[in-house]
Amino acid sequence: MLDVQSIYIIHGEDAKRMVIESLEKLELFKELSPTMRIGIKPNIVLEKHSSSGATTSVDLIDGVVEYLKMKGFNNITILESSGIGHNTQLAYKVTGLDKVALKHNIELIDLKGQPTVTLSYKDFNVQVFKKVQEIDYLINMPVVKAHCQTNITCALKNLKGLIPDNEKRRFHRDRLHRPIAYLNKIINTDLIIADGIMGDLTFEEGGNPVRMDRVLIAKDPVLIDRFVAESIGYDPKEVAHVDISATLGVGKSKIDKAKIVELNAPVKKQELYKRSYLIESLAKKIREREACSICYGSLIFALKRLKDNGKIIKNTDYIYIGQGYKDFVGEGVGVGNCTKGFSKFLQGCPPNANSIVEFLEQNL
Ligand code: SF4
Repeated sequence: MLDVQSIYIIHGEDAKRMVIESLEKLELFKELSPTMRIGIKPNIVLEKHSSSGATTSVDLIDGVVEYLKMKGFNNITILESSGIGHNTQLAYKVTGLDKVALKHNIELIDLKGQPTVTLSYKDFNVQVFKKVQEIDYLINMPVVKAHCQTNITCALKNLKGLIPDNEKRRFHRDRLHRPIAYLNKIINTDLIIADGIMGDLTFEEGGNPVRMDRVLIAKDPVLIDRFVAESIGYDPKEVAHVDISATLGVGKSKIDKAKIVELNAPVKKQELYKRSYLIESLAKKIREREACSICYGSLIFALKRLKDNGKIIKNTDYIYIGQGYKDFVGEGVGVGNCTKGFSKFLQGCPPNANSIVEFLEQNL
């Protein structure tokens, strides 16, 4: 049986086989009933295959669905809304998730444009897609990744795909951490199956894939996110949404009593996964106020491209980005529609990394 205090780890490369074997061992079926509507929330933040390190492995999702169907649970829905400016339908195609859904004859929902309902916890209100309320048992399937604004992204932040784009923008205006924690107080995750087969320890958007060859299973999102933060080299205190979630009582376990249960031995010696300091050094050129992750991530990516191309950015040159500059009028170089008051700015909401590279080449 799944113990709420435990994080289960299975090592290997064959995501599908690994997850089926793990769920068998952990007897997941004992938590479920045939009438339950089971929701799977992957991380399909953008139109990139999981080999990029950005999105959940479809083999892993395939394994979860196959296990559930083998046990007679057929009422399964996969649901997601990709990041701001990205197309969920196209992302389903690129990742191959559309084929998995077709093969198993299960519902694959693009939440973008679907009706929403306002839900609350204390003074915090948020619009959530109505479909979420139809789910009886939510399986959260994030990717183990770094994030350019929150340092890491795993289970807690993955629920942001269950709210519409206008709310995602508001979350960024509110600095992400508190709203993410409160969202997790409103939407309950029943099980987390985190893709640590291939992650990205530099960017949320992938492009620097790191093979980690492991899948993490847990019931408590705070527990698993703390573990992921520590295993990449962050003090959990550096990931404020984990800390706030713990204070709010998201999750059901006692953090100091967490148990790590390895379901098999690693095939090869496990490397130590290191936090990347690249983002921190590139970010020194940015003056950010309430920027959306997609916009900010594209700017970081563009700065990396410029650095790789040998472009030297002067110490006195800064690039401004974010919703907090909407009312600003004055001198400077801005990226995105929010900075239209700057003397030089790049249009787009969000602009893509290529256009940012061209713009900065001409304007810095
Ligand atoms: S321009 Fe960028 S920061 Fe501003 S709203 Fe659009 S995506 Fe967000």
